[in-house]
Amino acid sequence: HVKANGKDSYCFYSDAMEGTDSSYLSVERDLYLALEQNQFEVFFQPRVDPFSHIIVGMEALLRWHHPEKGLIYPGDFIWIAEESKLIVPIGDWVLESTCEELVRWRKQRLPQLKISLNISPVQLERPNYVQKFIETLQKHNLPASVFELEVTEQGLLRGQGMAVRNLRQLREYGISVALDDFGRGYSSLSSLQNFPVNTLKIDRSFVREIEDELPKVCAVDAIAMMAKGLNLHMAAEGVENLLQLEYLRNLGCSEVQGYLYGKAMPAQATLDILSNQPAEGPHFILPD
Ligand code: C2E
Ligand code: MG
Ligand code: MG
Ligand code: MG
Repeated sequence: HVKANGKDSYCFYSDAMEGTDSSYLSVERDLYLALEQNQFEVFFQPRVDPFSHIIVGMEALLRWHHPEKGLIYPGDFIWIAEESKLIVPIGDWVLESTCEELVRWRKQRLPQLKISLNISPVQLERPNYVQKFIETLQKHNLPASVFELEVTEQGLLRGQGMAVRNLRQLREYGISVALDDFGRGYSSLSSLQNFPVNTLKIDRSFVREIEDELPKVCAVDAIAMMAKGLNLHMAAEGVENLLQLEYLRNLGCSEVQGYLYGKAMPAQATLDILSNQPAEGPHFILPD
């Protein structure tokens, strides 16, 4: 089966989705083992200032080294982790592992980076989520301002307002919040005004629409206007070429991510890039 998960990738678990309970359970068991046997790894993708080409942050993206199936991307297993609630301990592991890495980077006197974490709605609607999050940061001596949480519009609508309450608390503590995949959900302008967010992150599908032959107005323009009107930052994911970069820059997009600059990579490769750069000046030299 080819599952439409937005990555055009082959999804070996789609049988589990359509088929018997036992195959679903086997994935669940595999995920449980993955936690126990340390098969997960956090990769990092650069987030770049589109004007200076300086790396301003990293997004933590989960990878799974399955002993038989090899490298597995989150699109193929996060939904099972969410259904089974295993995303809660998995999410805790991602936070812990990212903090450990970040502490290592900060010892190297690298420029201060902002780290984005993807948070599942299942995590966010837990009553003790905020407390656990803050305790983890304190344990590692990391300031809250280092983190940005990425949540989706649908995620914020869950749990009888618990998700929004939790996010609001985290924001008061100094953590910033981005609405991920923005434009794919269905939030009304009025709910958007009430969400505790700092940034709208334009979904990749809209960035992909930026081509040579653009219509007079496209979705990206509309999102940019919304961000401006609501006084929010605008970020973009899935930037793959200079045309898209230029276009987003003109719309006032303050941070971009995409294969144009680089894919997500293991921590050591990330550290190499960060430490082999001059203290000032761009991290990337792009052709004109
Ligand atoms: P996302 O948060 O929207 O992350 C962006 C995805 O787009 C990532 O896929 C990234 O590798 C990919 N991407 C970035 N730039 C480009 C580009 O220029 N072109 C293309 N084609 N793709 C690009 P990835 O790493 O496979 O993650 C997929 C989704 O899985 C993420 O979407 C996020 O929603 C979820 N995810 C990843 N890590 C975690 C995690 O630790 N916890 C939770 N709950 N979800 C996670
Ligand atoms: Mg994201
Ligand atoms: Mg996300
Ligand atoms: Mg996204």
